[in-house]
Amino acid sequence: MTKIIDGKALAAKIRQELAEEIGALSARYESKPGLAVIQVGADPASSIYVRNKKRACEEAGIVSFGYDLPAEVSQSELLELIETLNNDERVNGILCQLPVPDHIDEFTILSAIDPAKDVDGFHPVNVGLLSIGHDCLVSCTPAGVLEMMHAYDLPIEGQRCVVIGRSNIVGKPVAQLMLKEHATVTIAHSRTKNLPALCREADILIAAIGRAGFVTTDFVKPGATVIDVGINRNEEGKVVGDVAFDEVSKVAGAITPVPGGVGPMTIAMLLKNTVKAWRKANGIIE
Ligand code: NAP
Repeated sequence: MTKIIDGKALAAKIRQELAEEIGALSARYESKPGLAVIQVGADPASSIYVRNKKRACEEAGIVSFGYDLPAEVSQSELLELIETLNNDERVNGILCQLPVPDHIDEFTILSAIDPAKDVDGFHPVNVGLLSIGHDCLVSCTPAGVLEMMHAYDLPIEGQRCVVIGRSNIVGKPVAQLMLKEHATVTIAHSRTKNLPALCREADILIAAIGRAGFVTTDFVKPGATVIDVGINRNEEGKVVGDVAFDEVSKVAGAITPVPGGVGPMTIAMLLKNTVKAWRKANGIIE
């Protein structure tokens, strides 16, 4: 029987647990976690993500500070805002919703955020700490993938893992996490040869490509764990993953659906990172 990994239910449980943790600790320490969310311009998809993040914060008892900047804001003005937030004690986490407009250099912006407040885990310091297997703020989507696999007791140690995709926000950090958990990891990408055959060797197959229904049964070893990070719209406008769920779910041992799989876990991990940063800033170890 294929296990369907219910990311929606797991994320709701984590958010509830975080709300309880914040409720108990904030009264005792007379402090509340705070998250600053910066959006530059009014990209409709970004606006939906930002709104959902702010709402999730409020439900969990995290104070959210919203900064909606016009698309024409200069890079130096944005850097000034980040510097102010770096020095604001009420703010434990800072995220700048990507993408930013072309006149702003993404790397400069992400590198300006205090690594201790980098709840997206994109700062080079956190990326470096992850790569040497040190405790750090880990990018939310990869952290969500790992959390799901632990929650469902899916084996990682000693398993052969293939990650399709090498982006800085998903492919590379999820591969690092799998390596840290003692999987044998291969990262595949658009230049990889014989991709289906390579993927058929995987006990854990993670798809982070951005192409609807790309991973078919031809890519999947029977019984493998298949994690679908993709969020795409198909021709009918429906949200679908990178994996052809209907066919692959018949051969996989465990699989994440889209929607309702990795997606909801990403926001839960953002809240978890914010609480982690808040605890650290306030010396809360209980
Ligand atoms: P990305 O930066 O566009 O990277 C896509 C990767 O897929 C690249 O490494 C690319 O290879 C590889 N690729 C593209 N076509 C391929 C092919 N035909 N064969 C093999 N590899 C191929 O995308 P991303 O930001 O990592 O996002 C990936 C997907 O995850 C998207 O659908 C995105 O919407 C989704 N996503 C979901 C969440 C969530 O919360 N669930 C979060 C972030 C992203 P090259 O490097 O060679 O070009």
